[in-house]
Amino acid sequence: MNKRIAIFPGSFDPITKGHENILLRALPLFDEVIIAIGKNSNKQNYFPLELREKWIRHVFKNEPKVRIETYSGLTIDFCKKMDAAYILRGLRTSADFEFEKAIAQNNKVMAPEIETVFILPVSELSAINSTIVRDIVRFGGNASPFVPEGVDLKF
Ligand code: ADP
Repeated sequence: MNKRIAIFPGSFDPITKGHENILLRALPLFDEVIIAIGKNSNKQNYFPLELREKWIRHVFKNEPKVRIETYSGLTIDFCKKMDAAYILRGLRTSADFEFEKAIAQNNKVMAPEIETVFILPVSELSAINSTIVRDIVRFGGNASPFVPEGVDLKF
């Protein structure tokens, strides 16, 4: 049987407890989940790529099914390159839903063999997002309650 490989794409700027929750709950569904740090989003990234990658490696160091890659270009092209038939995304809000729906449906037209799989975060994590974490850090606050154990945002 083909390995069930999923791509979890995002900017992870930085990784939060929300990302961690989605990924850990998705793991039993797949043989491998590739966290794919996108390099070409329109967003201006705050934390350097090397740090974002280092934090993710640290968080999942004991998860043999997790692999970490960086990519640019279309997510569906990266899926094909990695032999991944699934894209994993988290849905926090109805705004996420509308945005994700458009992307997933357009991806389906371009790559019918790839399925997008959505997971809802547990309720206490649905208010966490990387933008808020960045703002807290930028203004000198303590963002550690929002990021996984061992992610030291002071660098
Ligand atoms: P992108 O720029 O692609 O949205 P992010 O790193 O912000 O990248 O998010 C990557 C994925 O993680 C998205 O599917 C997003 O919805 C999901 N995500 C982010 N924060 C949370 C959270 N608190 N709960 C659930 N999913 C989340």
